[in-house]
Amino acid sequence: MRHFTYAGSPARILFGSGSSRDLASVVTAAGCSRALVLATPHQKADAEQLAGRLGSLSVGVFAGAVMHTPVEVTEAAMKIVAESGADCVVSLGGGSTTGLGKAIAYRTDLPQIVVPTTYAGSEVTSILGQTQDGRKTTVKDPRILPEVVIYDPDLTHGLPVAMSVTSALNAMAHAVEGLYAQDRNPISSLMAIEGLHAFATSLPVIVKEPASAEARADALYGAWLCGTVLGAVGMALHHKICHTLGGSFDTPHAETHAIMLPHTAAFNAAAAREELAPAAALFGGTIGGGLWDFARSIGAPMSLKDVGLVEADLDRAADIASENPYWNPRPIDRASIRDLLQQAYEGNRPTD
Ligand code: NAD
Repeated sequence: MRHFTYAGSPARILFGSGSSRDLASVVTAAGCSRALVLATPHQKADAEQLAGRLGSLSVGVFAGAVMHTPVEVTEAAMKIVAESGADCVVSLGGGSTTGLGKAIAYRTDLPQIVVPTTYAGSEVTSILGQTQDGRKTTVKDPRILPEVVIYDPDLTHGLPVAMSVTSALNAMAHAVEGLYAQDRNPISSLMAIEGLHAFATSLPVIVKEPASAEARADALYGAWLCGTVLGAVGMALHHKICHTLGGSFDTPHAETHAIMLPHTAAFNAAAAREELAPAAALFGGTIGGGLWDFARSIGAPMSLKDVGLVEADLDRAADIASENPYWNPRPIDRASIRDLLQQAYEGNRPTD
């Protein structure tokens, strides 16, 4: 018997090649006239160009966003917000820049317009992860959800292939876990499958032809879908392990997701066979082995030892990932988590 709850997201989504050129009218339509443009140091020049196009609608650029949204960086940005009298933020970039915009909105309730340039998916969630004194904590609040997202695939043509691959697998992990989420609903599952399909078809093309306009648009479409799933339903084992590895061992975010996904999917395969079946079919029959083959075919990193983890870390990682019980389709015990981490450390192909 069907039994579910569904709540649509209030965010406004503008998708299409060239859509970021309409930013000025989006700022005005939001009732704003003093936009502060946010970016990482790496994307400062792009942010300045965007601010230049906004003309008098922009009060400047803050290009200090970094990974994991450290509170010190947010505080520095908050000073600029106050001094400049900004009445909205425009976040140009990946999850790190989006995170800074969300941290500002959480504290001020300023409207956010996000222009994503990776596939991480943060722009469509009301979740903010921030770090203080080396500890990452997560908050969920309606103020954190960006009001408008402008998906312009043209801005992703230059995303390096290696980052495209890992960022896409990060997004795909939202969809895979969304399929077996306890609070899944028919819409989240449809979006998850469509998102996985978009990446399954576009990534092999992007690897060969990084500036393919069609493949870039398909991948960004997949990012929107998979991100929306992350924002709509609860995550489980995969996200918990990646959070553990990133938070306690400083492994890189997208790469960690990319490496772990086949292993966590295989771990849960038997417990969520029916829910995962459409995804398994997309990747050749078995979800874990299929995702592993797919990841390898597009040049993804395959083992935790490739991203700086040492074997001696695995015991502590297993301890942390199995403490504070959380829901997962297959019950979690320390011994099987330790084994799963060993498999991912070695980069072995999962069988299920
Ligand atoms: P990122 O934002 O850290 O970007 C990595 C680097 O790539 C940065 O230097 C960035 O400037 C650069 N870059 C981005 N787009 C580019 C492009 N098109 N061309 C060239 N360079 C580009 O990486 P990410 O993986 O997008 O984000 C990771 C962060 O996002 C993590 O902190 C993670 O926790 C967070 N995240 C949060 C959520 C959420 O819902 N709260 C969801 C996913 C990720």
